[in-house]
Amino acid sequence: MDESEQRLDGNAAAGILRDVFVQELTTARSACASCGAIAPVGSQHLYMSPLAPGAVIRCNTCEQVLMVFVHAGGRYRLGMRGLTWLEMLDSVEAPPDA
Ligand SMILES: [Zn+2]
Repeated sequence: MDESEQRLDGNAAAGILRDVFVQELTTARSACASCGAIAPVGSQHLYMSPLAPGAVIRCNTCEQVLMVFVHAGGRYRLGMRGLTWLEMLDSVEAPPDA
């Protein structure tokens, strides 16, 4: 069996995407792609203006842009180019003290 036999289209990821994008993300751990620092999203630096259509989250260690959010024209756009990964607890499977 080659890999193409196991390949599905992206619509098959609907369940896991729905699970991930309803999580509380300020407690999620984030890894900076620039300096490698790992910290909760809630401890990073947020830059936003009341008149701006979005916000920027920067690394609290090196100030590299981690995440960019834009809400305009009836759409949300999320860029996470500055992150190596984002990790959140699974509220169903995580132990109570995690
Ligand atoms: Zn950094």
